[in-house]
Amino acid sequence: MSAVSVPPGGVTSRLAQELEVQRERLLPCVHCGFCLPACPTYNRLGDENDSPRGRLHLMKAVVEGRLDPASDAFHTHIDRCLGCRACEPVCPSGVEYGTLLELARHTAAEHRPQGRLTRMLLFVMASRALRSLLFAGGRVLRASGLAALGARALPSAGVLRSARFGLAMLAATAAWRMPGVRSSRGVAAPVSDDAKRGTGRRVAVLTGCVQEGLYGRVNQSTMRTLEANGFEVVEVKGQDCCGALHAHGGDLDRARALAKTNVEVFLASGVDLVVVNAAGCGAAMKEYGTLLESDGDDHARARDLASRVRDVTEVLAEVGPRRGAAVECSVAYDHPCHLLHAQRISRPPLQVLDAIPGVEVRVIANAEECCGGAGIYGITHPDLGGRIGADKVAAVRAVGADAVATPNPGCMMQIGAGLVMDGAPEGVVHPVELLDESYRRAGYYGEPSTQRSPG
Ligand code: SF4
Ligand code: SF4
Repeated sequence: MSAVSVPPGGVTSRLAQELEVQRERLLPCVHCGFCLPACPTYNRLGDENDSPRGRLHLMKAVVEGRLDPASDAFHTHIDRCLGCRACEPVCPSGVEYGTLLELARHTAAEHRPQGRLTRMLLFVMASRALRSLLFAGGRVLRASGLAALGARALPSAGVLRSARFGLAMLAATAAWRMPGVRSSRGVAAPVSDDAKRGTGRRVAVLTGCVQEGLYGRVNQSTMRTLEANGFEVVEVKGQDCCGALHAHGGDLDRARALAKTNVEVFLASGVDLVVVNAAGCGAAMKEYGTLLESDGDDHARARDLASRVRDVTEVLAEVGPRRGAAVECSVAYDHPCHLLHAQRISRPPLQVLDAIPGVEVRVIANAEECCGGAGIYGITHPDLGGRIGADKVAAVRAVGADAVATPNPGCMMQIGAGLVMDGAPEGVVHPVELLDESYRRAGYYGEPSTQRSPG
């Protein structure tokens, strides 16, 4: 391995050396440019520096000591990346762009302070107590209607623009009130033999940070639908945020600390699988082996845990899933980037929706393109994030569905925020919420019900 030369800014830190260790990951790029048309930022801005190839050039320049990691060029173009990883599946050389981006952000953050909002968010999310407080406040704002009111009342330009978007994201986490049952009582479909026998598999569910704080109902739906399909769901105490937000934000130290906690508690529980209902978290956990590759014994254990991680739709699709009663509605399905591009999962969420009688799935234009969510990208990059988000909302609205279904909280909040700000009637729902409602109406959880509790 070649030594790190020292550029004007001084690339001498452990973090820059870490990027140097990734030289092998940078080398496979043959500069073919096949990734350019897949990149949402390049398509919008037309600047090679805002393309995957251009960003890889910048990373290589830092690794080789030709570019100061504190420079505007490195900071601006690495920061502007959505981290959507649409550039990975189209790359003929198998460049591990997502891993390289995290390392580049780590290096950039080490040499130039991140924005105050990003630093505060990463600090709060790493603390169970602080994020509990934050989400408790968020739930109060949401339940009082103030979040939705602010999202509609605040100006769409000027200094309050980002505040408006943040409130719209919060308002968008409210449960969608699904259309009522057409027939007065749900009729249960035959239970599959697999479901009757049970799968014999013990699984745990990652409760997460945003999922636990704002989408508790999705976690509940996940556990119930897994049990209805024959899985034994085990509660694992002591689990923490997966660390995806931190890894994507360049805070690899906190990401690794969170990953180590999860590796320890989930392996100790002895479960066969760890089921995740947030695409971004699932992608991060499946890559714990890479995140902890320099951590000796922890590396092997991280790889062991990573091999057990599954998206909830993967698990359900593998067993059937069992059909429930009708939920008459139409949904526009949108692929989360971290499911489609990072985990290469496309069919399972649609198989889950197919298992719900009465649900009509409508295909939207450019469903494989990022919605612009990317954590708090819509707040930190209001212009570009706003443009990408507006295109997605327009694609959703064009199909005239009752709701958009997507299995990732970031996408649910981003697309939902656009719908809230537009005053649009479409709701937002996770596919397992619909499946859960279908099972509830079928009476799988006791008495058939025509009403779904909000929250
Ligand atoms: S990242 Fe892959 S697709 Fe993009 S220029 Fe490099 S080799 Fe080509
Ligand atoms: S991760 Fe997305 S935004 Fe970033 S370079 Fe790749 S395609 Fe472009």
